[in-house]
Amino acid sequence: MDNKIIIFDTTLRDGEQAAGTALNTSEKLELARQLDNLRVDVIEAGFPAASPGDFEAVCAIASQTENASVCALARAIGRDIDTAWQAIKHAKNPRIHTFISSSDIHIKYQLQKTREDVLKIVEEMVARAASYTKNVEFSPMDSTRSDWEYVYRMLEIAVKCGATTLNIPDTLGYAIPSEYGCFIKSIRQNVPGADKVNISVHCHNDLGMATANALAAVENGANQVECTINGIGERAGNSSLEEVVMALKTRKDYFNKETNIDTTQLYRTSRMVCKLMGFNLAPNKPVVGNNAFRHQSGIHQDGIIKERSTYEIMNPADIGANNTALVLGKLSGRHAFKERLLEMGYENIGEEELLRAFAAFKELADKKKDVTDKDIESLLGAEPKTVAAAYTLEFVQVTCGDKGVPTATVGLITPQGQTIRAAAMGTGPVDAVCKCIDSMLKTPSTLTEFSVNSVTEGIDALGEVLIKVEKDGKTYIGRGSDTDIIVSSAKAYLTALNRLID
Ligand code: MN
Repeated sequence: MDNKIIIFDTTLRDGEQAAGTALNTSEKLELARQLDNLRVDVIEAGFPAASPGDFEAVCAIASQTENASVCALARAIGRDIDTAWQAIKHAKNPRIHTFISSSDIHIKYQLQKTREDVLKIVEEMVARAASYTKNVEFSPMDSTRSDWEYVYRMLEIAVKCGATTLNIPDTLGYAIPSEYGCFIKSIRQNVPGADKVNISVHCHNDLGMATANALAAVENGANQVECTINGIGERAGNSSLEEVVMALKTRKDYFNKETNIDTTQLYRTSRMVCKLMGFNLAPNKPVVGNNAFRHQSGIHQDGIIKERSTYEIMNPADIGANNTALVLGKLSGRHAFKERLLEMGYENIGEEELLRAFAAFKELADKKKDVTDKDIESLLGAEPKTVAAAYTLEFVQVTCGDKGVPTATVGLITPQGQTIRAAAMGTGPVDAVCKCIDSMLKTPSTLTEFSVNSVTEGIDALGEVLIKVEKDGKTYIGRGSDTDIIVSSAKAYLTALNRLID
């Protein structure tokens, strides 16, 4: 076997299922396109049997992905496998991923079956998947809490019935690196036929060891790693793609492995996932966090100025995080703005979107002297371009302070182009603004999250507001960006509600 590590991205499946946010099909497609630009080998696009929406999204991704293999998840149930195949059959390189539990705890309490029953199911269902395609992945769920001997038997059956990738999930994040490494090594030694198939790992981060476990597995013969952008996923998340990839690249001297990943797309992909899934990264998140390349200690700063490699093991440019501080000012024209966007990797930006972004940039440049890449990202990220018909903000005006009653007046333009206005009082200015918008849109929902982040340093920084609202068990995200956080809040709230009524 060569030294290539297959990168299997499950941001759209394990990641999306955990985010609790409803990405629409066009957002899933946008992310899938970026994963393809990043050059992941396999995109796990979803779980088609879960809902008609999931099915539709997986179909769309399957037919539009140019390079990566597109994979669909299916329980070891006939209907799931058939549905998975229907969703991905038009992909260039479709893969069915089917799974069933191997641990006694799961077999006894969840499946309420015997070990022998489960082996029978594996035999039938892997064969069923293999009747559709040669590209079949099988996972014994909760394998790290299972009897190893039993896992070997299950895997042997899977290989005999046509599985070409054996994935060994640490479903609950229970494994320890040295132990997990032994387990992976023992599979090649104890499962007849395992030397001819891919051995994959899928690790969770409950004890903070997901990346370490994945790398221990690579050292012991695994040649596929399942991971997600920013490490998102069930509970504490999965192995983080950027950590795994940058560990293999930075320590090539140790691992001697290659991936196909275009690492210069990592930063951009990470920000896209934050934007679409509606969360902010911890500043100290390895590789892609805001502080990942920031040096505080005087001794370190001194070293960096003299020679970057004294205190940096990775180059920020390698992940596409070029710290261009000053990029544009208020005299910059549309051409320069577009050039900058291209340099930042926004290649597929449409003319209409460009005009909107440029107008927002001009408005910002009037208020803020230096407009940085981060500002531009924030402006672009806040645009609700995935909603068909939308209300837009005409104006927002508040009075507030520690005396008197916070009051807001808000003007909106309806999708039909009419202007409507409302006024309201609230417990604070944001509350008053939201009440105004509620009274005009008349869509009852619950606000579940509200956060404000400063995009850059300085008192004139853009304040980016992230809002989540919930209705009928679904969560809708809105982001808004402005130098005035009340205006950002109004924009974010309106975006979330636009998505809700879309
Ligand atoms: Mn998982």
